[in-house]
Amino acid sequence: MASNSSTDSSLPSASASASDPLLHIGLLSQPVGSLSGVGPVRAKAFASLGVHTLGDLLEYFPRDYQLESSEATISDLQGSDTIQSARGEIVAVNYVAGHRRPRFEATIEDATGKLAILWFNSSFLRSKLHPGQMIRVKGKVRHNRNFPVMMNPKWEFVSTDTPAINQSKLRPIYPATARLGSDVIGQIIAQHLQSATARLDEWFDAPLLQKYHLLPRASAYELIHRPASRRDAMAARRRIIFDELMLMQLGLGLSKRLRQGRLSAPVLRVDKVLDERILARLGFQLTTAQRNATYQLVRDLTSGVPMNRLLQGDVGSGKTAVAVYGMLAAVANHMQAALLAPTEVLAEQHYLTLSNLLAGSQVRLGLYTGRTKRRDRTRMLGDLASGQIHLAVGTQALIQKDVEFANLGLVVVDEQHRLGVRQRAVLKDKGLSPHYLVMTATPIPRTLALSYFADFEVTVLDELPPGRQPIETRWLRQGQAAQAYEFIRQQVQSGRQAYIVLPRIEDDGLDDSKSALKEYKRLSEGALADLKLGLLHGQLSTGEKQEVMAGFRDGRIDVLIATTVIEVGIDVPNATVMMIDSADRFGLSQLHQLRGRVGRGRYKSYCILLADAIQETTVSRLQTMVNTTDGFVIAETDLALRGPGEFFGTRQHGLPEFKLADITNEMQLLRIARDEATALLQADPHLRQHPNLRTALQNQLGDSFNLAAVG
Ligand code: ADP
Ligand code: MG
Repeated sequence: MASNSSTDSSLPSASASASDPLLHIGLLSQPVGSLSGVGPVRAKAFASLGVHTLGDLLEYFPRDYQLESSEATISDLQGSDTIQSARGEIVAVNYVAGHRRPRFEATIEDATGKLAILWFNSSFLRSKLHPGQMIRVKGKVRHNRNFPVMMNPKWEFVSTDTPAINQSKLRPIYPATARLGSDVIGQIIAQHLQSATARLDEWFDAPLLQKYHLLPRASAYELIHRPASRRDAMAARRRIIFDELMLMQLGLGLSKRLRQGRLSAPVLRVDKVLDERILARLGFQLTTAQRNATYQLVRDLTSGVPMNRLLQGDVGSGKTAVAVYGMLAAVANHMQAALLAPTEVLAEQHYLTLSNLLAGSQVRLGLYTGRTKRRDRTRMLGDLASGQIHLAVGTQALIQKDVEFANLGLVVVDEQHRLGVRQRAVLKDKGLSPHYLVMTATPIPRTLALSYFADFEVTVLDELPPGRQPIETRWLRQGQAAQAYEFIRQQVQSGRQAYIVLPRIEDDGLDDSKSALKEYKRLSEGALADLKLGLLHGQLSTGEKQEVMAGFRDGRIDVLIATTVIEVGIDVPNATVMMIDSADRFGLSQLHQLRGRVGRGRYKSYCILLADAIQETTVSRLQTMVNTTDGFVIAETDLALRGPGEFFGTRQHGLPEFKLADITNEMQLLRIARDEATALLQADPHLRQHPNLRTALQNQLGDSFNLAAVG
């Protein structure tokens, strides 16, 4: 690099660097501030765009391109969005002041016609442009009464022998800021593009690239910044997206192999007697879907390979029963099982369900949450370590550094995708490799199933327990709240119960949003004064929460006013109304989860959304809720409205963020990447023949990923 010859000369020869990808990364990690054309001010502006190194600059991709056509004669100028250029002699100038937007006007003329030009707010042009001068202008053309007009074009003085622009080209448009415009970014990138791409190694073998018509890596990076045509730009994009997807798939493939190759999981034995004993405990006949899930579970648990299974079933499909089956199988095999819930309330409910289910059995249960009292905690830690507790239920506090298990065989993670990955790392550090079952009501859209969840086997519960009736959903405006309360009163009179959910515990007094505390007070003194109301929120102590939940479960409370602490998992089949106040404040998946708290028994159930929607996305969220109860449709809509990152919290997954790929739109390429990554890892398990790729992967996956240990 011209601006950095000192760095260059201190490095080994080109042939040495070709065999050492780290060196290349070293060069691409050169700070932007050290590049010619970038001073401290620009370096700072680049930093605010996340561009710190030459490599970052290379990956600062254009968001679009602007076509600039070759120079034309004035009569050939077309009214279009293309940037065109033409030259001519200035025949008239005029400055219009006093107007709302003062403007400088000029007319230029060539042998074929006249072009009118307007520059707004450019009074300085008065002293620059005069009749008789020859200029070339570059801008978009409009026609005004058949007369071509350019507004705010770029301009330069030319003479008759200045060569014409004889090639049309695509100008990249970069995401810019006020301090750093697209043109400046483009210039700086163009200046360093050649030397930067010269340092990019190919990752993949030529036959693979040929098979899918993929550009070489270096060309892709060059062409995405400097395409000769839209086709070039598309081809460049496609290659770079392919790389992003391949890296992800290779990472997933390696982690899967790490799991299967290195670790041996506990081997369980499940025979007919045990199967029947467990089924008898459950107290109802499993649905066919649940039964199939238990078969798959048994196959996994008896295989000796650590299970990594995702159990997906819409709210109310009965995932807990499947989990209980697995946990009891583990316990019967003299192993411990742990059930992790995302909230304390849900952990407590699971604990209660299990206590009832296991009453009179020899299985010892423990409940361990962040709020377990110190004394109980110490005792429980001892019992977990000695194996006296067989089945532990808790929040993520259960899987912490200081918690030891005697013989942990199965971990079930309920309704929390993020938990799994992190907790698994903690367990791995302790040398444990239990089986994993992750339960979720969120259907995994196919694209995500191929990507983020590629490391999971998926079981779907596509059937609800018998006797369920569809939930009816209504959307009422805040002004119609009285109707909702009246409806709740009727339901309570016929023996049912209701939830009223609010977005927050307390008002901050800043806006008109309602809160659980205020509504509890308001309704107990007003609209629902004759009913027994309960209040549940996250700031209550564990004891208080248990008390309220028990009261609601036993029917001592008619209407439970709550925050989203009841969002997931809560199971009170007698509750038939879910009223969500200020429903506009909740996300779609959250609304669906909340609605899933009703319709869990044999009674017809209702969901009432109370909201004055203003924004378009709010309207479409609420309408989706009214129109469908299909969790899959809801998840797809949610994904479309929010994007995958937010949807699944990719950052928490530790999975790569893509610069270009939008995996919801790259189904075909994603499939190719999955197949090719599998093939590549089969042919070259340690990536010895692909050192560049190996380095790239290690850089992306970080220290936690030890490629040498894989295989
Ligand atoms: P989710 O999949 O949402 O976690 P749960 O496991 O909480 O659902 O089950 C919802 C309700 O359905 C619970 O009350 C549970 O006891 C009941 N249930 C589950 N499976 C069956 C079944 N096969 N027959 C009857 N009721 C069932
Ligand atoms: Mg559940």
